[in-house]
Amino acid sequence: MNQLPPITDAFGRVHRNLRVSVTDRCNIRCLYCMPEDVEFLPSAEVLSFEEIESVVSLLARMGINRIRLTGGEPLVRNELPVLVGKLKSIHGIKDLALTTNGVLLAPRAKELKLAGLDRVNISLDTLDRETFHHLTRRDCLSKVLEGIDAALECNFSQVRLNAVSIAGLTEDAILPLAYFATQRKIELRFIEFMPLDGDQNWGQDKVLDGKQIREIIEAEFGELTAAPRDYEAQPSVDFRFANGGKIGFINPVSEPFCKSCDRLRITAEGKLRNCLFSLQEWDLKSLIRDGASEDVIEAAIRECVGKKKASHGIDSRDFVRPQKAMYQIGG
Ligand code: SAM
Ligand code: SF4
Repeated sequence: MNQLPPITDAFGRVHRNLRVSVTDRCNIRCLYCMPEDVEFLPSAEVLSFEEIESVVSLLARMGINRIRLTGGEPLVRNELPVLVGKLKSIHGIKDLALTTNGVLLAPRAKELKLAGLDRVNISLDTLDRETFHHLTRRDCLSKVLEGIDAALECNFSQVRLNAVSIAGLTEDAILPLAYFATQRKIELRFIEFMPLDGDQNWGQDKVLDGKQIREIIEAEFGELTAAPRDYEAQPSVDFRFANGGKIGFINPVSEPFCKSCDRLRITAEGKLRNCLFSLQEWDLKSLIRDGASEDVIEAAIRECVGKKKASHGIDSRDFVRPQKAMYQIGG
């Protein structure tokens, strides 16, 4: 396999990280992501496993070495472990992770681990059943908790919790989540609410920022101490509790981390994006299905990365929201 030059943008950021959305469908309807009534992509428009494998193989030769499977809810895609196996065997892929809402995880965790999945992030914003029901419009907190337990039994190299925070809604969830995570020795990350909700209700006033969350945590657990990054371009700023547990804050709104971004995204319908907030996409699926040569696909990838902006600009006056919501992009 001949290695190709790395994918570098106009600001010198080398891209090593790829998010692959395997579906836009989901079994729950988080307020901050997916509207209740939603039209999904026809199955024929979604990249097949073989198409994903071929584009990831090319990207791996261009220096991509970390992959996260996401969606929509990746576990609603049939046979996901088959894709995990295919991607894990691609030369150069060092880390293969999954982000899931956890609802369908319990019966699938072992199979995913055996197929080669390294790490799992489980999204859990609250431990309160009513608040969970309100936030996700589904009453299935117990399934997520079963999913977490199952993942912990499988010896993944990491199981982490991701909690989106929304002002006026999730303040009371913070301390119970911190206790839950530290008791189980699971890393916990809080994520600020971004303007990517399908219902378009986002506003600055709904962002419960990382600094406020940290204050709530420190008032209860004492001062947090800064922890080193797992890898340079990680979006989260990490800390340790006095008892050694780890907690992180992903603050895209209050403290954008675009300067070190090394991420690229492929949507379920095979569009390449250089940013969550990009207004432009590169249609790799059409190129693949039209039989384009590898050189042509490589050129499209380089053009996409070459046009990446310095930052997402949420805080600027001329910010324009993308037409797509988070579930259509892949968070
Ligand atoms: N369905 C899976 C899940 O929920 O984990 C994977 C896809 S989901 C789009 C990926 C992550 O994006 C989740 O952790 C979710 O909480 C987060 N997310 C969704 N909408 C968001 C928003 N508007 N702002 C911040 N995070 C968001
Ligand atoms: Fe589904 Fe994940 Fe979006 Fe929630 S955040 S609606 S679980 S895709």
